[in-house]
Amino acid sequence: MVGASGVTVLLFWLTIPVAACVGSFLATVAWRVPRGLSIVSPRSACVSCAAPLSARDLIPMFSWSVLRGQCRHCRAPIDRLYPLMELSAVVVAIWSGLVFEGWHVFVSCLLGWTLITLSAIDIRHRILPDLIVIPLVGLGLIFAWLDNPTILADHLIGASLGFVAFAAIAFLYRVLRNRDGLGLGDAKLLAAGGAWLGWEALPGIVLGAAITALIFALASACARRRPINGGTAIAFGPYLALAVWLTWIFGPLDLIILDNLWS
Ligand SMILES: [Zn+2]
Repeated sequence: MVGASGVTVLLFWLTIPVAACVGSFLATVAWRVPRGLSIVSPRSACVSCAAPLSARDLIPMFSWSVLRGQCRHCRAPIDRLYPLMELSAVVVAIWSGLVFEGWHVFVSCLLGWTLITLSAIDIRHRILPDLIVIPLVGLGLIFAWLDNPTILADHLIGASLGFVAFAAIAFLYRVLRNRDGLGLGDAKLLAAGGAWLGWEALPGIVLGAAITALIFALASACARRRPINGGTAIAFGPYLALAVWLTWIFGPLDLIILDNLWS
């Protein structure tokens, strides 16, 4: 007989390969969705020589390491997106398991995995596809309602306010600077943040995302010895996604600061 703690340990170890496989699937989604391709067919193949990938080429993280990041047939480099997303998916699953209980673990994984996929697509293609970000808004509202029907209004306001705030900034920027600054994709992602976390979380999400984006932009400008100016383009989606994730895990930013002040 395996005791309750034994079951927990077993579940924990099962989580790693399952989450890694999910990460592998997410990398396929991130590759195919922006290109308008089906995510179910055809089966995985090398993007360089089109050789179909066998089961031994598709073991998450392991295959990439064994093949040293190259295609078995043509030696073309395999996108680093794959091992990175597989690893991130495992981190999200373990983190969710440590913080939440019951069905909330699954919900947390769903949020984290979707945020990873959106980030990967935004980094590569500078878009946040409606196909992924709009269902994320809907799911946030559904889970808020399932969790506690009385908070649904807060989360509905969060979704609307998140979208309107960023859409207004995007509009003003376009009028004032005569070019696009913030995309509507970012507005939809902030709407998703509001749908999952309620309107109170929005200021913390925006502040957190802006600060990390600025730090990263300065660091990479220093590393590349290229100054930042008004024309420097950065994908904002990943920073928003990170801020939404950290707020989901640790709670709204102002509460963290207040807690620290009280204690
Ligand atoms: Zn190849």
